[in-house]
Amino acid sequence: MGCTQSKHDASEDASNGTMLQAVLGHLGQLDGDAKLDHTTMSIVYDIFKDMDKDSDGTVDKSEFEKFLSTHPAAKTLWEGEGKASMSRSLKDAIADERLSFYELVAAFAPEAPHHAGDASGIGGLESLISDAAWGYRGYNGPENWALLSPKNKLAATGKEQCPVDILPSTCVPCPAVDGDASLAYGVGPGTILNNGHTIQVNWKGGSMSVGGTTFEAAQFHFHTASETTIRGMQYPLEMHVVHVTPGANERVSEPMRIAVLAVLFETRTDVEEVFLSQFFDQLPSHVAHDQDDAETLTRPVDLSSISLDGGYYRLRGSLTTPPCTEGLEWSVLASPLPILPAQLETFRKALGKTVRNFRPTQPLNGRSITWVCACQA
Ligand SMILES: [Zn+2]
Repeated sequence: MGCTQSKHDASEDASNGTMLQAVLGHLGQLDGDAKLDHTTMSIVYDIFKDMDKDSDGTVDKSEFEKFLSTHPAAKTLWEGEGKASMSRSLKDAIADERLSFYELVAAFAPEAPHHAGDASGIGGLESLISDAAWGYRGYNGPENWALLSPKNKLAATGKEQCPVDILPSTCVPCPAVDGDASLAYGVGPGTILNNGHTIQVNWKGGSMSVGGTTFEAAQFHFHTASETTIRGMQYPLEMHVVHVTPGANERVSEPMRIAVLAVLFETRTDVEEVFLSQFFDQLPSHVAHDQDDAETLTRPVDLSSISLDGGYYRLRGSLTTPPCTEGLEWSVLASPLPILPAQLETFRKALGKTVRNFRPTQPLNGRSITWVCACQA
């Protein structure tokens, strides 16, 4: 899909020029290990998109040199030798090649002191563009995740990305009545945190078996509106229960595998979902900086009301957030659970200005979706 960004007129250029001076001044004053703020990254991204004439996610040398010749502050920063100048090795590496967004950011940002010896400059880059720098709109929105870090390249090149739109009429009925998945959810203590992208409950009260492998529940979190769509229809909320193969961290030879159970919610006024009411009075609105900031839930959470009995869809998929890792076992409950309008409002309020945190649906690329329903029997 091409970029439809319109050409700037002269007055916009003048105002962008002023903004650019401020941004470049800001970059020049940053300490080596400072993170770039949202406004700075947004403006650098606008500059990049303006130079990216082919809309292919890179800019060529001539466009970049034209930019430098019309922006003296940028030229000074580019050619500077102080803390604000890029590493010489990175400069040499890209001077005659095409430049990606993350390379451009690195070019103008200070060299991270702890990665100064990295010949490629990529180590320094990663410290500047942290994993936390992605978001859901603007320069760091889903369309640009692959530009933000080389780690995220599957977001653009992957062939089994999630979420997907499910067209029930095209799904393949599973020959086994019960399918290849089962749930063993019980009651377990939890901690809850708002990580700025979602509200997440760390919970270890059960497991899910898929294709003969048992995955232990690690956490569940929410997206609004839903990421998965059914016949193109989005639901107001979606929960992902994330399960991992146990002990994988200790067994280097066997990398961790992930299974996701997606549960859609529809707004209902006549019935309350008891599962949600167990912890919805404790949704944190302040963003936690790490897992240590997670609050302990006042009572254990019971997930045993979540069941595959109403049927489910199965497919191969990916994480729906950077780095969009593939090879995940995906299951989606066919029947949505109810959520009260007031509960939805509580969730959206807690999520704050983000308000929406869903990735748009991704192409199936030939993947088939299996439909499992015991009611076929
Ligand atoms: Zn999710």
